[in-house]
Amino acid sequence: MKPIVVIGSGFGGLAAAVRLRAQGHEVIVLEANEQPGGRASVFRRDGFSFDAGPTVITAPHLLDELFTLLGRNPRDYFDLMPVDPFYRVEFPDGSRFDYVGDEERIVAQIAAMSPDDVEGYRKLAKKAEEIFAVGYDQLVDAPFDSAWDMVKVLPDMMRLGSYRTVYGMVASFIKDERLRQVFTFQPLLVGGNPFNTTSIYLLIHWLERKWGVWFPRGGTTAVVKGLVDLLADVGVEVRCNAPVGRIEVENGRATGVVLEDGTRIACSAVVSNAEPGTVYTKLLAPEHRRTHTDRAVRRKEQSMSLFVTYFGTKKVYSDVAHHTILLGPRYKGLLDDIFSKKVLADDFSLYLHRPTASDPSLAPEGHDGFYVLSPVPNDQSGIDWETTAAAYEAKILDFLDKGVLPGLKENLVTCESIDPRYFAGRLRSMDGAAFGLEPRLTQSAYFRYHNRSEDVEGLYFVGASTHPGAGVPGVLNTAKVLEKIMPAPAHPVPVPRAGAPVAAK
Ligand SMILES: Cc1cc2nc3c(=O)[nH]c(=O)nc-3n(C[C@H](O)[C@H](O)[C@H](O)COP(=O)(O)OP(=O)(O)OC[C@H]3O[C@@H](n4cnc5c(N)ncnc54)[C@H](O)[C@@H]3O)c2cc1C
Repeated sequence: MKPIVVIGSGFGGLAAAVRLRAQGHEVIVLEANEQPGGRASVFRRDGFSFDAGPTVITAPHLLDELFTLLGRNPRDYFDLMPVDPFYRVEFPDGSRFDYVGDEERIVAQIAAMSPDDVEGYRKLAKKAEEIFAVGYDQLVDAPFDSAWDMVKVLPDMMRLGSYRTVYGMVASFIKDERLRQVFTFQPLLVGGNPFNTTSIYLLIHWLERKWGVWFPRGGTTAVVKGLVDLLADVGVEVRCNAPVGRIEVENGRATGVVLEDGTRIACSAVVSNAEPGTVYTKLLAPEHRRTHTDRAVRRKEQSMSLFVTYFGTKKVYSDVAHHTILLGPRYKGLLDDIFSKKVLADDFSLYLHRPTASDPSLAPEGHDGFYVLSPVPNDQSGIDWETTAAAYEAKILDFLDKGVLPGLKENLVTCESIDPRYFAGRLRSMDGAAFGLEPRLTQSAYFRYHNRSEDVEGLYFVGASTHPGAGVPGVLNTAKVLEKIMPAPAHPVPVPRAGAPVAAK
């Protein structure tokens, strides 16, 4: 039996491989880079272990069920620790808000900051719960291949006010500008501008309250390793340093892939976890694309990019929380600069990650490991990062040194940054976007890249630019959509029981 080829080993690709294998398909995963994980790669440097990307794990059952599907115990592969507070939000006026899961703790802080908003928050939480009941429970893993799929959900979307933006919806309940920011920054974690993203994304608030925020022991990379080990245990190879250069199509059907070194691998179907825009324009010849022409691909709006600095210190900052959001003096203005004007602003809002708050083993003893992330415009900005990156990094470190991390510069022992060049180059994303397609209403559900290609039979997509979208829970759900639309194998290959030897290929 020819295998299904999965291109890319991000969370979406690994989850797809698990689900296809559980259905009885033969599967092989081909990853362009030297390590699996995609955005969830790991940088190891000077005794520190830095997760490159996702650090906030929500909806942990979505990870666990990948293991149980194959008859394995997830706790034999990875372990999660709860994080409290979920985020500490710090404002330029010196005030702070601990964003947590417990309603009474949230309300007590709102009462201290803006007593008039307590009632509004309770209504907002109720609204988030209602949106969750439809947007998550019913739609998150539903296929949106046909316009009819979309038409069916329109009444619910109208009733819930999905035509409003996240900020617009929150502002209708909450008056204090700082609290509005506390309850609207979440879409930024999946590449969306709260002033543009449909209020469906308010469901993130309820999702976090319902299932909590978690951090893997050993970092997010430990979950990636767990998934790769799981796949090895059931006979699925995750082959690194295997960039796919071309998808072969015969009579309108995907029949194989050709690696950049010329190796050909025949397959029964292709599932791409690589960015659909890149796949359509770079891996498929134009004669095979009636819908996704170069022009159609270019018309789509990509999310913003990120500038991320990974650094370690010989001082431990024990009063800094695991996740800190450092909001700058401007909110809407800064987001306009990033998303619309596409200029690099003089000010910034930052997310500071201190994984050693939960797991000190990620840094040498007596040291602290961090990353600091600044949303920046994607490559449509024309910013020359070659000449800009060093000064931008210095400015961010200087800001931290003068504020939340006093003495940072003299205690710095390792430091390295990435910028849109990393996303465009290493991860092959369109316009150096960090989160794939921007999640706005006109690019959601049916209007996002479909999980089943309209142009080539036997070509499927999972990952951030497909429904439901970016973020670890999002891309894990794209694999659930795939599972629903992939035809069952004619001769299913049984999954070996735990502990049973895997047949040699
Ligand atoms: C800095 C950062 C922080 C984030 N923080 C969070 C967070 O805290 N919580 C959260 O839930 N989400 C977070 N996200 C978002 C989340 O990480 C992503 O949405 C998710 O990991 C994307 O997964 P994916 O399956 O779409 O694939 P990706 O991770 O994008 O992987 C795609 C893979 O395809 C491979 N590939 C591409 N082209 C080819 C080819 N031709 N041949 C072979 N392989 C190819 C790439 O090398 C890559 O490995 C963050 C993202 C970033 C960048």
